[in-house]
Amino acid sequence: MHNYRTLAVIGGGASGLMAAAKAAEEALSRHLNITIDVYEANDRVGKKILVTGNGRCNLSNAVISVEDYFGDTDLFEEVYPVFDRSDSLSFFRSCGLCTCSDDAGRIYPSSKKSASVLDALMYECERTGVRMHTETRIERIQKTEDGYLLNGKFHADLVILAVGGKAGAAKQHTDAVFSFLKDAGVRIAPMYPALTAFSITDFPKSVKGVRAAGRLALQANGNPLASSEGEVQYTEYGISGIAAMQLSSYVEVKDIRSGNVYIAIDSLPDLQYNELRSHFEDLKKSRPDMPVAVFMTGLLPKGLSLAFMKEAGVEERTFLRNMTRQQEGVLLACCKAKKYRVNGLRGFENAQVMRGGIAASELTEKLELKKLPGVFACGEMLNINGDCGGYNLQWAWSSGAVAGKNCIGEIG
Ligand SMILES: Cc1cc2nc3c(=O)[nH]c(=O)nc-3n(C[C@H](O)[C@H](O)[C@H](O)COP(=O)(O)OP(=O)(O)OC[C@H]3O[C@@H](n4cnc5c(N)ncnc54)[C@H](O)[C@@H]3O)c2cc1C
Repeated sequence: MHNYRTLAVIGGGASGLMAAAKAAEEALSRHLNITIDVYEANDRVGKKILVTGNGRCNLSNAVISVEDYFGDTDLFEEVYPVFDRSDSLSFFRSCGLCTCSDDAGRIYPSSKKSASVLDALMYECERTGVRMHTETRIERIQKTEDGYLLNGKFHADLVILAVGGKAGAAKQHTDAVFSFLKDAGVRIAPMYPALTAFSITDFPKSVKGVRAAGRLALQANGNPLASSEGEVQYTEYGISGIAAMQLSSYVEVKDIRSGNVYIAIDSLPDLQYNELRSHFEDLKKSRPDMPVAVFMTGLLPKGLSLAFMKEAGVEERTFLRNMTRQQEGVLLACCKAKKYRVNGLRGFENAQVMRGGIAASELTEKLELKKLPGVFACGEMLNINGDCGGYNLQWAWSSGAVAGKNCIGEIG
């Protein structure tokens, strides 16, 4: 056991604030006199928390299992049960924050305001004496004989790294910390954007700006990978919206590069193909002079209708009775399974999270780095990322609490 007295938390985001609060609570309960400093590059802590869940902060989910996570999920299975959803909600309740959930199990603050979550964390940090240093980007970490030196001036006996990932970042603050880890020989799994949109080049102009229901099926090398359903946002670069973003975690970048990844969109998920076909045949019989545009806009937004008619090679005013069998087939197939080739994932600036990060093999179950004694890590910078639905913040709470509590456990 060492005689530690100062803890530096690098990064005042979700996981860093939770880590600082839990470390402080543990130190108080053990009557240890420890200084806890949070160093945050931005002009205030918790900026990203404020934009989560469209400003409402989807902070957890009613149903959480390892299936909701990607990357080194073994580590998730070790860490999550130590401080799980119900521990997180109890923690927030003890700071005055009540929560509620929607039909899909997504948990939000009762106020539906992300600022309430940040306020609760700030209250707890203030109550327990955690010190905040904003506009303090840590650019240099050096190992010394008795701990670590940050930016050549801040001494720390213990360090918690909580710098998050590269996703959604306006500025790039994390590079110096990942360089420090790489220099120390810590293995970092390749980092890519996740929960991000898909770029598609051969996109018909008319669909841009359309928002429509859809069931999406992702395929790579001819094999189904995953599917999702929800609002599809057709943008100037490709496909976005939660349903699309969820699929981005399943795809391998190398498959995209070799041109083998496709998304098929069923734009009429509530109608079976046979039902659609009978609807078409009925109208063709009862209203043979109906223009195909009228038939299509009765089903879909105009932008999609125009794109599909173009693909089928029919004019808007073509009567149903004048369509060829082939045109009918292409048109109805587009409605039920229009296939687009994916040519890229949108970058970190559009992503909600990062895939990759510190490999689980580099960490003990206490989240201490094996090659850097006294340095702990938590949150998105670890090689674990979750689906949309509160899973990423839940990982930030769980891993932050475990790192915070355990690092104080190092103190004799
Ligand atoms: C638009 C958007 C919406 C999202 N919505 C949701 C949602 O509703 N539910 C959900 O579960 N997840 C959501 N996420 C994901 C979630 O916000 C993250 O997974 C979570 O914030 C990760 O927590 P973290 O502490 O690891 O990193 P962060 O919250 O990113 O915090 C890291 C902090 O470290 C600071 N920092 C970085 N480098 C340095 C340095 N060198 N020195 C000092 N400080 C540094 C950063 O400025 C930042 O404040 C969303 C993400 C985005 C971008």
